Amino acid sequence: MSRFLDEKYASLEAYVPGEQPQDRKYIKLNTNESPYPPSPEVIASVNDSDIADLRLYSDPECRILRQKLADRYDVGYDNIYLSNGSDDILNFAFMAYCSDGKKVAFADITYGFYKVFADLYHSDANIIPLEDDFSINVDNYCGINSTVVIANPNAPTGLTLPVSAIEKILKSNPNNVVVVDEAYVDFGAESCLPLLNKYDNLLIVRTYSKSRALAGARLGFAIASKEIIDDLNRIKFSTNPYNVNRLTLKVGAAAIDSDDYFMNNCQRIAKTREKTTNELVALGFDVIPSKANFIFAKAPEMSGQDLYSKLKEKGILIRHFNKDRISDYIRITIGSETEMEAFITAIKEIMVGN
Ligand code: PMP
Repeated sequence: MSRFLDEKYASLEAYVPGEQPQDRKYIKLNTNESPYPPSPEVIASVNDSDIADLRLYSDPECRILRQKLADRYDVGYDNIYLSNGSDDILNFAFMAYCSDGKKVAFADITYGFYKVFADLYHSDANIIPLEDDFSINVDNYCGINSTVVIANPNAPTGLTLPVSAIEKILKSNPNNVVVVDEAYVDFGAESCLPLLNKYDNLLIVRTYSKSRALAGARLGFAIASKEIIDDLNRIKFSTNPYNVNRLTLKVGAAAIDSDDYFMNNCQRIAKTREKTTNELVALGFDVIPSKANFIFAKAPEMSGQDLYSKLKEKGILIRHFNKDRISDYIRITIGSETEMEAFITAIKEIMVGN
């Protein structure tokens, strides 16, 4: 670090993203990307004239895509906000609602960026332990008078809360925003969207990175009351009004026009998830029941670190978190059927010492 850095950032522990190796070809089951390409409509949506148009700024209001998302999710235009990936929205939410000693609550085992944002903005973070089975005890979040951030499904466990449980949290914290991060909702969980009309403190965060196979395009969106959307726009227009680029706006719209393609792929991934879960259970793994495009599992007689290294030697990348309570687990993104067959074969070899 330079001698110029403000001391308030000196102790910041940055988020560590999953590896994006450039050295060799891996079966990549480590960052919850889609194994399938975007739809043919998305691929055809960007042409030479769009590249030539890059001399122009993008529409800072993202009008066309905002309207498409409003129609797709049956909400108003004013209920949609678009950003450069959903991390950008989470960043803005922490900045807007949890800065400088304001309270925010989230689980001890959840998406690692919540803690990083809490540190970045000097929030008063209340980190609430999950139960022994990694479930959330909803009562811990009721009436706590604090911003709440919940990933539903949770990461890296894949476990979900029913909408009724989230409603209890919303109802009992009427003066605080409840952020529901639905990054993985399209793989089989229940969305909180039906609660939007009843609760002006609900902020739903979604991403194109998983179910819509556009992680590299960096596109996230929020669905919330007009007032919350206005807050996010206020921050966006005070930092970087063009934070969604022209090409991404185009592919984002084409993805909504071909939404059936993506939702079918989500079902296919969910089917592969169930098959892989059964195979791992048959091999003696402890597998947490997941509704996401990944599973969280513990091998019968091997540390998470060992399994990670042995799989990597065989050209398969998974995610291991060297963190209290979960260091024996590995998180495996659900790949294509063929990739998961290769994964199971590799696991069997490793278990017999090959
Ligand atoms: N929320 C959760 C729970 C995630 O796992 C991720 C992916 N790392 C994100 C948000 C961020 O996704 P993106 O910025 O690609 O939209």
